[in-house]
Amino acid sequence: MRLEASIQEIKGIGEKTKQLFAKIGVYTVGDILLHFPRTYQQFPEPLASGEAAGEGESACAIRGILRQVPLVHRGKRMEITVATAYRQEAEPVELIWYRMPYLRSQLKPKIPYIFYGKLLTEKGRQKMEQCAVYNEGQYAALRESLQPIYGLTKGLTNQMVKKTVSQALDAVEFPADLLPGFVVEREKFPGEEQAYREIHFPETFDRLLEARNRLVYEEFFYFLLCSQLQQQNQSAVKNNWTFPPVAKDDLVERTAAALPYELTAGQRESLDSLRQDLRGAFVSQRLIQGDVGSGKTVVAFLAMLDAVSQGYQAAIMAPTEVLARQHAQTFGQMLEEYGLPYEVVCLVGSMTAREKRMAREKIAGEDGLFVVGTHALIQDAVDFRQLALVITDEQHRFGVRQRETLTKKGASCPHTAVMSATPIPRTLAMILYSNMRISLIRELPANRLPIKTCAVKTEKRPTAYRFIEREIELGHQAYVICPLVEASEKTEAENVLEYGEKLRAFYGGKISVGILHGKMKPTEKNRIMESFAAGEIQVLVSTTVVEVGVNVPNATVILIENANRFGLAALHQLRGRVGRGKDQSYCILMDSSKGEKVAKRLEILNQSNDGFYIAEQDLKLRGPGDLFGVRQSGDFNFRIADIIQDAGWLQKAAADVEKLLKEDPGLVEHSHLHEYARSFMERNTYVL
Ligand code: ADP
Ligand code: MG
Repeated sequence: MRLEASIQEIKGIGEKTKQLFAKIGVYTVGDILLHFPRTYQQFPEPLASGEAAGEGESACAIRGILRQVPLVHRGKRMEITVATAYRQEAEPVELIWYRMPYLRSQLKPKIPYIFYGKLLTEKGRQKMEQCAVYNEGQYAALRESLQPIYGLTKGLTNQMVKKTVSQALDAVEFPADLLPGFVVEREKFPGEEQAYREIHFPETFDRLLEARNRLVYEEFFYFLLCSQLQQQNQSAVKNNWTFPPVAKDDLVERTAAALPYELTAGQRESLDSLRQDLRGAFVSQRLIQGDVGSGKTVVAFLAMLDAVSQGYQAAIMAPTEVLARQHAQTFGQMLEEYGLPYEVVCLVGSMTAREKRMAREKIAGEDGLFVVGTHALIQDAVDFRQLALVITDEQHRFGVRQRETLTKKGASCPHTAVMSATPIPRTLAMILYSNMRISLIRELPANRLPIKTCAVKTEKRPTAYRFIEREIELGHQAYVICPLVEASEKTEAENVLEYGEKLRAFYGGKISVGILHGKMKPTEKNRIMESFAAGEIQVLVSTTVVEVGVNVPNATVILIENANRFGLAALHQLRGRVGRGKDQSYCILMDSSKGEKVAKRLEILNQSNDGFYIAEQDLKLRGPGDLFGVRQSGDFNFRIADIIQDAGWLQKAAADVEKLLKEDPGLVEHSHLHEYARSFMERNTYVL
């Protein structure tokens, strides 16, 4: 069976299971093999003699012997096998199996076995149902192994995924080695097939690590190879746009001078670089990296103004509709305020068909236009006219392929820029964005006071609410962030719907409380966001939909519920929603955990407002045990690799790809690598 074969070709996978798998992005046999375990579980050590299992705990293992062969009862609907396991210095345990009469001939008396299952107490007697039975040797081997735990969806069990993976492993023909020989030799990597086997069903922790190393390397290798191949196709594209050299008192400069603030050095440098790019001989790609609140939007606006004032179109794409609308509004206001005779066209999913058509017609027919939108911009058929510059805001939410489609639009290739707040070290950024030039905005605007941050336990909630009330009396606004939309049985965490009610009750009509979450219709979300921006809503209870880019400078407090459930990078992004104006801002981290361990982690946010520092410290606090737990920088959605934790592999892979392409630029002698690179690009949409 080939990797590209449909998942349905695996025995036992019918239409229904196929659809469940589709929900987790698994369509082919190759996909299921790439559905790596989220984490692993180990079989527990057998209970010591005399040790009792705690009630309601997860499965445990007991050592015991049978004094006689099991008995089989013929029940009405099935056969029931029963036996008693006698333990040393502990109560015996009743064992019950349904539909497994053959155990009677398999289990022998007087031989020590390990029984593994859930221990229940019924009428003072302990019992285990459907437990697994091992001899000492078998169980010792199992203890070494790690059991995969997969990402699931409703209706799909871990057992089903395990079984499917196992069948796929046996059925598939693995391609010839997908890494250059010199790499495999140098690193002594396990083979392709072994790596896949051990990542899913590791026999030991060491072998798991070996397998993971190979797959991490391989993912980086192909990511980098693909981006180099793309670049070979792209970087020599001539720039067709003719921009006059920057005049001393041009419109962009005059507008910058009219701003109520002075641009920071980083903003200035980024803007100048972008403007030079527009005048370069080749089409450019630039990354603008700047922490939350560093003022990337105005840089985008001014660079776009440069293009628009020369009669070209310039577009900015945002990851969310809320953010796109916000940009459209900000741009519109600036154009009006500075008397600039240009227009903003907004194109987002929630517009009516008629509105969309009108926007598209404008984009197809008019020169000198600011275009603002979301994915809708790319996915729908949009005919740009004279599109000279495309800026992607918070691009780490977009895929490589999506970006490409836009780049192909219009007769000539536009210059592209990406604005990102993801704090990755510069050395890594240069590798990951090897096809881009990088500008860094290091500093925050000078008028900013550092956000005061504190972590408190939940009994401090009333104090926090009164603190928010005081800020609101001063004319400010507040965010409250909850992890969930609505109450959930599975997860114990605050939810927006109930919390909104609770806060309304607490403030008793004195303060207007609004709610916002991802399950709302886009138009409803926009309405809420606009009314918060206008100051009509004073406290906004929201999920993390506000995480990226939303700018309401009058908001000075953000209270984050269940802060312990978020990664530090996410908390830092959330915190960046305040501290955007001249007033002192505050971030209250509500820690609902019991112990002190979390407090130490949250303390890092108190120490620093610097995203790079926070990412580094967060990493230091994690031990090797977290390797398969929380992802360090999930933003990049690599399947298995983690750019921070696996930075060493990233660097090696970069050097190897360079070497390979130098020796064999067209990959003539490595055609199977070339072929796999193509399918790799088809399969993965990396979001950088
Ligand atoms: P981000 O980099 O997170 O996208 P924004 O572009 O949303 O940040 O800017 C945040 C706020 O800072 C905005 O209200 C903007 O008007 C303001 N701002 C931008 N540049 C400066 C500056 N040089 N001095 C003062 N305020 C600025
Ligand atoms: Mg922004």
